[in-house]
Amino acid sequence: MREFLTDLHIHTALSPCAAEAMTPANIIACAQLSGLDIIAITDHNASDNVAAVMEAAKGTTLTVFPGMEIETREEIHLIVLFGGLEEMSQWEHTIREYRPRRLNDEQKFGPQYIMNAAGNITGIKPEMLLMPLNCSLGYVTRQVRLLGGLCIASHVDRPAYSILSQLGFIPAELQLDAVEISRRVKGDPLWKTNTKFCGLTVVTASDAHTLEDLLEGPRTKFVLEAPTVAELRKALYDQEFRKVLF
Ligand SMILES: [Zn+2]
Ligand SMILES: [Zn+2]
Repeated sequence: MREFLTDLHIHTALSPCAAEAMTPANIIACAQLSGLDIIAITDHNASDNVAAVMEAAKGTTLTVFPGMEIETREEIHLIVLFGGLEEMSQWEHTIREYRPRRLNDEQKFGPQYIMNAAGNITGIKPEMLLMPLNCSLGYVTRQVRLLGGLCIASHVDRPAYSILSQLGFIPAELQLDAVEISRRVKGDPLWKTNTKFCGLTVVTASDAHTLEDLLEGPRTKFVLEAPTVAELRKALYDQEFRKVLF
């Protein structure tokens, strides 16, 4: 068992709000500079750059988890993580019909670049990613669980697009796996010291939209047997000596 430094919330240039410099190679280079062992790629409602970042990490000691930052019908952001690209593509298939039929306005929101591992632009995602999917929070958590994935409520301490800003509470039947706090928010100091919220493990991540964000953190350290999503799940539930270090 050993410690793994993680950043489980990183956007690439596919997210219209992220910098163009968020290329697969740049993300890997900055993650290594930061001493990270595990990162997750979590673009808004899409995963087109996940495989490229995983490929860019080949030959390094860094592990890349496939993921996505979902916006549900309730305008709640949720980090979903999967064990591999097979599950990720099943998830893409699941949500395809719930995507809004609106095209991105590049001038207003920014371009949505699809890139290869070398950082060359291979396409532009046409549909608007900064919009809620037409499916509920409950549906997302159930479907992700069926695929063996993890659901982490994004930036719960933020005043917008979080489960607390939208619902005001965390429904017990939801089966979330953790909550993420955004340590940059100047809010209730309780967030800085609590390790559990409503019985859920609290984690933190950079929510990087720029390379500077990625270098700055914050990050979460885990004790795991191996860098896998299954091990991460055990740590979030304090099982078999896997844990989150605070
Ligand atoms: Zn978010
Ligand atoms: Zn985000």
